[in-house]
Amino acid sequence: MWQRRLLVWVLLGGLLLTGPGTAAAEAPGPRVHIVVAGDTLSALAQRYGVTVEAIAAANRLADPNRIVVGQRLLIPTGENPRTTSATATAITYVLQPGDTLPALARRWQVSPADILRANGVTRASALLTEPEIVIPLPTRSALPAPFVQVEATENIIQGQTGVVFVTLSRSEADLRGRFGDVPLVFARERRTPDGQRFWALLPTTAITRTGEYALTVWSGDGQVVRTVVVLPGAYETQHIVLPPGKGDLLAPDRTRPELERLLGIWGTVSPTPQWQGRFRFPIADGFRQTSPYGTKRSYNGGPVSSFHAGTDWGAPEGTPVWAPAHGTVVLAEMLDVRGGAVIIDHGLGVTSNFWHLSRIDVRPGDRVAPGDVIGLVGTTGLSTAAHLHWELRVGTLAVDPLQWTETHFPYLR
Ligand SMILES: [Zn+2]
Repeated sequence: MWQRRLLVWVLLGGLLLTGPGTAAAEAPGPRVHIVVAGDTLSALAQRYGVTVEAIAAANRLADPNRIVVGQRLLIPTGENPRTTSATATAITYVLQPGDTLPALARRWQVSPADILRANGVTRASALLTEPEIVIPLPTRSALPAPFVQVEATENIIQGQTGVVFVTLSRSEADLRGRFGDVPLVFARERRTPDGQRFWALLPTTAITRTGEYALTVWSGDGQVVRTVVVLPGAYETQHIVLPPGKGDLLAPDRTRPELERLLGIWGTVSPTPQWQGRFRFPIADGFRQTSPYGTKRSYNGGPVSSFHAGTDWGAPEGTPVWAPAHGTVVLAEMLDVRGGAVIIDHGLGVTSNFWHLSRIDVRPGDRVAPGDVIGLVGTTGLSTAAHLHWELRVGTLAVDPLQWTETHFPYLR
């Protein structure tokens, strides 16, 4: 049993795009809390001495009343010295009935955190009882044309997905960007009073090197650089000793053709995001997560070379598997290593990947909506027991799916 499980991991683990290794040093700054059964945001807020609102805002939680076991939460600790939007001027605004912090932030194109900070309060409820408030306006002259505003997630926990918003003063979309060595894929969000607003996802994996990354965007002759910090995700490491000869299981002749094909699919970007709101779980409540996303693996004492690319739920064979969000089926067939496989393209390079299904109920080209049955749980391919493996990729990078069930990308609330 153990050996067969090992075999599965070696094979699947060896297929992953791993990127750079892990950094040894712990970065200072915000802490990471991994949600366990019984946790509530209010209890966490009390424990860490911060507000519920601060935790919800730091993690862009769509619903602060709902957190899930295994989820990684950023715990903000005091003042963050790094702010992406420098404030030079401010205006006074008389609050109107119906004003909300997100709406004010969108209207003035500043971050909710900057508004709270400028008014010396930590929660929206305190802000909205004031007769008038201060709106800090970003320094726009500091950016080269055609950039009006560039705002990005400042801290990303390993495995999580950040976002960059870019406003250009003109509508020509020659916008390009890079996050570390990951090319950005921009979606057009909407028109603004002074131009056009775009956004792109900033994916990391469980083994993306921690520390500072340059986020660079270009348009016309203009270039803007921001710094994004990738924080340690506190993923467990499993040290696996391969018996002599088992190294052959990584033999590429079996695994490589399948991976090459998947790389082609993951690397094909359909430009329009199809999902709306946060993703739902692909399986009914009540099934236990048997293997979390992100567990790191080192073989024969070597460096960490791979990680578990998805979230596993243990469930009986035949349990329905649901589409977690709107999308188009781009693969639905039996694969050699991964067994019964369905890949849903959600647009903008985001795919849901389901492996080991016993039955497949969709075909390539099918449009699916959240809750549509796409197949049944199984143990096909290299799998030892019936379980569902859900792998969420942004481009070729496997990100933490749980974050997508809690956050509405790109942070529209
Ligand atoms: Zn898995």
